[in-house]
Amino acid sequence: MRSDSLFKEALEVLPGGVSSPVRRFEPYPFFAKKGEGCMLYDIDGNRYIDYCLAYGPLILGHAPEKVISAVCEQIKKGSTYGTPTKAEVELAKLVIERVPAAEMIRFVNSGTEATMAAIRLARAFTGKDKIIKFEGAYHGAHDYVLVKPGSGATAAPDSPGIPTDTIKNTISAPFNNEEAVASIIEDDDNIAAIIVEPIMANIGCIEPEDGYLKFLRKITSENGILLIFDEVITGFRIAPGGAQEYYNIAADLVTYGKIIGGGFPMGALAGSREIMEHISPAGDVYQAGTFNGNPVSVTAGITTLKGLTEDIYKELNKKGEMIRNGMKDILEDNSLEFYIAGLSSMFQVYFTERRVKDYTSAKTADLEMFKRYFHGLLKGGVFVPPSQFECCFISAAHRKEDLDMTLEVMEESIKKAI
Ligand code: PLP
Repeated sequence: MRSDSLFKEALEVLPGGVSSPVRRFEPYPFFAKKGEGCMLYDIDGNRYIDYCLAYGPLILGHAPEKVISAVCEQIKKGSTYGTPTKAEVELAKLVIERVPAAEMIRFVNSGTEATMAAIRLARAFTGKDKIIKFEGAYHGAHDYVLVKPGSGATAAPDSPGIPTDTIKNTISAPFNNEEAVASIIEDDDNIAAIIVEPIMANIGCIEPEDGYLKFLRKITSENGILLIFDEVITGFRIAPGGAQEYYNIAADLVTYGKIIGGGFPMGALAGSREIMEHISPAGDVYQAGTFNGNPVSVTAGITTLKGLTEDIYKELNKKGEMIRNGMKDILEDNSLEFYIAGLSSMFQVYFTERRVKDYTSAKTADLEMFKRYFHGLLKGGVFVPPSQFECCFISAAHRKEDLDMTLEVMEESIKKAI
């Protein structure tokens, strides 16, 4: 069966034909058959160089041998136990070694669960109710944070089904704007936390301006507010210690997902002992999950983190530079207004003459041009996320010849899209 007819069947049984909204694109998404290294194969016989990489987890590429064999060994011994395992302690130590501000960690099953727990913990710890998030930031699919989220091919600003009462404690602020945050804090002494994606990766890929994260650190410390870094995307991607290491800032709480599970479902929440010991059963802030610390995901996480050597990070940085510089050249040669964003192995292009620094400027990009560019890439065998408001990722499995080929396809696709 081919993707087009399978999609018709899927529409009958899966809302929108998919299990998560961003996966849907027009006219129909391709159905994956297998992944291998940097390649994704569909059931129609096509092969794509993959820069979506399942939206971030696959930093070592698809089906890395060491991860898969460790996972297979684990599965033979059982898929879940409902008791603690040695592996959880090992993974906790691996994270804590890499992330200086983390002294303790709670494993959960997704990034959504991690941010939900972090917000509850911050509220309990500070005795305050409100949170500040940034316009366009995505922290998962739970009620408290679905206020002006980014991401998603069909992203709606809010969602029906969320009681107004639930979000009255969530305040949105523009990213990279110190005055906006300062004025909210000045007018309100009931702010428990600021939650921030240190690099805004759900409206493409937007870096913090110089000093912005330091400003957030300072103003939160001075006002008894916790700073939560949502590192579901940046964690273990831009440096072993994520954005905290890269920008040399210690957050109070940090949330993980994606890479920490090595391609299997997992999230986590980490922070200082003082804060983390409020989580049940050490403390009384309730957090629980049947599959928390699942041994299969934990095994994949351990093997992945161990596989992320210094050399791999160096290589990932180089590959990122190569793609970003190559794209700049192509766009300049074609006299196009554009903004290329990204660092390390993250990148995105915006077809706009504006410098993209927040949600408002990201939305000035020509979305129709992006669609044409996306479909041109797909036709040429390169898969990037179908939305302007997602980030592209490079893996350790991408080789120089894959990147060269990608740039050729990009050039062709851009020429056709103009
Ligand atoms: N936080 C960020 C920054 C994310 O990008 C995402 C997902 O893309 C989440 C949280 C939610 O993670 P999950 O999809 O694992 O629930």
